[in-house]
Amino acid sequence: MSTTHRVLILGAGYAGLAAATQLAARTGKADVQVTLVNAQERFTERLRLHLTATGQRVAELDIPTLLAKTGAHFVRGWVTAVDAHAKTVRIDDNRVLRYDTLVYGLGSVTDTAAVPGVEEHAYTLDGVGDATTLADRLARLGGGTVVVVGSGLTGVEASAEIAEQHPELDVVLVGRQDPGATMTAKARSHLRAALARLGVRVISGTAVTKVLPDGVELVGAQTLAADVVLWTAGTRVSPLAAAAGLTVDERGRVVTDPTLRSVSHPDVYAIGDAAAVRQGYGVLHGTCQSGMPTGVHAAVSIARTLRGKQPRQFRFGYYHTPVSLGRNDAVVQFTHPDDSPRRGCLTGRPAVWYKETVSASPWPTYRRMTTMPSSGAFWPRGGRFTRLRDDAR
Ligand SMILES: Cc1cc2nc3c(=O)[nH]c(=O)nc-3n(C[C@H](O)[C@H](O)[C@H](O)COP(=O)(O)OP(=O)(O)OC[C@H]3O[C@@H](n4cnc5c(N)ncnc54)[C@H](O)[C@@H]3O)c2cc1C
Repeated sequence: MSTTHRVLILGAGYAGLAAATQLAARTGKADVQVTLVNAQERFTERLRLHLTATGQRVAELDIPTLLAKTGAHFVRGWVTAVDAHAKTVRIDDNRVLRYDTLVYGLGSVTDTAAVPGVEEHAYTLDGVGDATTLADRLARLGGGTVVVVGSGLTGVEASAEIAEQHPELDVVLVGRQDPGATMTAKARSHLRAALARLGVRVISGTAVTKVLPDGVELVGAQTLAADVVLWTAGTRVSPLAAAAGLTVDERGRVVTDPTLRSVSHPDVYAIGDAAAVRQGYGVLHGTCQSGMPTGVHAAVSIARTLRGKQPRQFRFGYYHTPVSLGRNDAVVQFTHPDDSPRRGCLTGRPAVWYKETVSASPWPTYRRMTTMPSSGAFWPRGGRFTRLRDDAR
């Protein structure tokens, strides 16, 4: 009987790729088989999809090439089912993959089901394909109105980018909250001034109730005409974890224990946007800055467990919110570990440089981790902010 321990990682997003490179490097010579499953061979840089959506070129990053010398296997395919009892995963071509330890990192996508008409009439920024389709449409418009729904940071970045790259278009940003609502007054006013300078019209304090073929309907039945609607409001996760019987939260995310293992299935680790990870300040919200550490931590924990040690508690404190405002401006809000704003922020050119450095950093980090795993194991642990009370452990 084989003694090889099979670790199957689902999803090669920011978190899954961190787990795969880290684990392959830590277990290279041991009897461990690491397999990474993902829908595409190309790594989706979600942080740069607003560039793709406005016709700007970004690098094509190939996952199998990254993993080539690591000993990890790459399987391209769409996961259709997880059988947590039999410890198998089914792929869309009917292949069945077996695991001893599963790392669940299938990420999140835009919630297109929350409001009628989004699925049929709105564009999204879920992948390179979606973003390219939008870029083609924007390039052909020649004039007209683009409504960006969702005044969170994705909506802000997308509306600024569209307005800057397409000055011939009227861009309207619609959402419940004021853009930059979670920032200090200084950072927020910089963000609002940048949107105004780019000609983005902001309508906040309202919600879109329906997307129509030629516009959107707002609360109170008022309508707003649009040639293109981009939907960035809210995300949802894959239903596969819930269908497999893993304990999930009200949003379908896998509920983890303090070490990132599923509370119902300890042979499953959950990472990134697909996981509900509790810290002292609350449950992590989906970001790349927290997603990559969850992947690294899961890998370190698996490596420890295979050496007969106990996995350690995961702790993470936020440190920044970098937001691009087109190619020539940005704002970076520094934060406390619980993501509340500190007084300090960067604006203008220093912020552009900072944001670009952050967006470009994941791929070199993965590359470095394939030979130097400890180089990826640094992130702020968050001190007293992240400490779990005894009743939450
Ligand atoms: C436009 C945009 C801008 C953003 N900007 C920022 C930012 O500036 N800073 C920040 O911190 N966060 C940002 N985010 C959020 C950040 O991108 C996510 O938190 C991060 O991508 C989560 O990483 P992940 O690995 O959990 O999931 P993902 O990156 O979503 O990766 C999941 C992977 O799993 C694959 N997958 C999913 N389902 C299946 C399946 N059934 N079978 C096979 N493969 C599957 C997907 O194709 C994908 O490759 C942004 C998000 C968007 C959409």
